[in-house]
Amino acid sequence: HAKSEGKNNFQFYRDDLNVKAHDRLLLENRIRSAIEEEYFQLYYQPQVDVRTGELVGLEALIRWIDPEKGVIPPIEFIPLAEDTGMIGKIGDWVIAKACEELKAMHAQGLPNVKVAVNVSPYQFKHGAHLCEVIESSLKKYDLSSEYLSLELTESILIEDIEETILSLNKLKGLNITLAIDDFGTGYSSLSYLKSFPIDVLKIDQTFIRDILSDESDKAIVTAIIAMADQLGLDVLAEGVETQAHNDFLIEKGCHYAQGYFYCKPKPLDELVEFWLAR
Ligand code: C2E
Ligand code: MG
Ligand code: MG
Ligand code: MG
Repeated sequence: HAKSEGKNNFQFYRDDLNVKAHDRLLLENRIRSAIEEEYFQLYYQPQVDVRTGELVGLEALIRWIDPEKGVIPPIEFIPLAEDTGMIGKIGDWVIAKACEELKAMHAQGLPNVKVAVNVSPYQFKHGAHLCEVIESSLKKYDLSSEYLSLELTESILIEDIEETILSLNKLKGLNITLAIDDFGTGYSSLSYLKSFPIDVLKIDQTFIRDILSDESDKAIVTAIIAMADQLGLDVLAEGVETQAHNDFLIEKGCHYAQGYFYCKPKPLDELVEFWLAR
């Protein structure tokens, strides 16, 4: 009995794998044509100085706008785009678009604001190309490099340390801002913080969510803020959803925040309108 059941399970398992491989191939083809058709849009979310309420940055968050399925969030296509290398082209598009739209926002009443762009491990590994795209986009839209910030995850920091330092130094050499995204969720050693040219730590939203009730989260966030302060790094808290979250962060000396409490990610025009009317 057990034997035949095992066999059936194997059969189901294999069919399931085939379905998954098939779905994956379909999605891959759809992403490929979305790249050709430029079916993407950037949404922007404010990054705010918690003490003054001033808008300091806008994080560009990609959406796939499918003619049939509507708005598709990044979690549904970025991982496969990363695995297949398609993120290279998507990432180039994001950098150029973010620069173009930042220029427009500067002209539409949001001067001196930075744009923060998420950069994937694949893009980081192709560092020479990444630098070229950044330089040519800044030049094309006549933007100073001080207006561009890159958000990198800790996963890029764990491979080859020497090579990572070289790549980061080349990016930093462009005079842009470098931020570590989702800080505290990776498995990298803290020692990188003293050897890498990082400017900002973005505290992951999972630490902020229950910060009023969870003593461990409280301790972790308090410690990250204190450590960043000692190291001369800026700290930005992600996923700030309530006044109470915000008050806690101000009390602990966190200078920057981002989250639904301030504003959800919105397309350029809506964002400008919302922010200026607020
Ligand atoms: P991330 O860079 O850590 O971005 C933060 C995510 O949290 C965004 O989700 C944002 O919409 C969401 N968020 C912002 N405020 C709040 C809040 O108060 N509460 C909650 N619960 N969530 C909040 P989104 O836009 O779905 O993006 C998810 C992830 O996809 C990003 O995480 C980033 O890793 C990736 N991503 C987005 N755009 C790009 C891109 O252009 N290139 C690459 N490589 N990755 C991207
Ligand atoms: Mg980010
Ligand atoms: Mg994040
Ligand atoms: Mg994230």
